[in-house]
Amino acid sequence: MIKRFNRIRFSKLNKKLKMKKKELEKFFNRLEELLEVNGCNGRDLTNAEIILDEMNIPKEEQIEFLENCRKSGGFCDCEIFLNSEEYLREIYNN
Ligand SMILES: [Zn+2]
Repeated sequence: MIKRFNRIRFSKLNKKLKMKKKELEKFFNRLEELLEVNGCNGRDLTNAEIILDEMNIPKEEQIEFLENCRKSGGFCDCEIFLNSEEYLREIYNN
């Protein structure tokens, strides 16, 4: 119970922590590479999740980032480039 409460508190405190512009660029470059190797499964953001883990992005930030992908029409990895790229660049511009 206490653990749960702390986690919610923690996520609220970190609401303003976002990925940096530089990290976003790294993400796009890596996603391009992984899409060439793994391809897109057309279902979910598997490659994106692999990259965020690789980059040691905190879980809360990962969830937020993936939500932002879906919100802008990126429901699978290749759709991030097709639909979300511009939107993500606008959000993660610091
Ligand atoms: Zn796709």
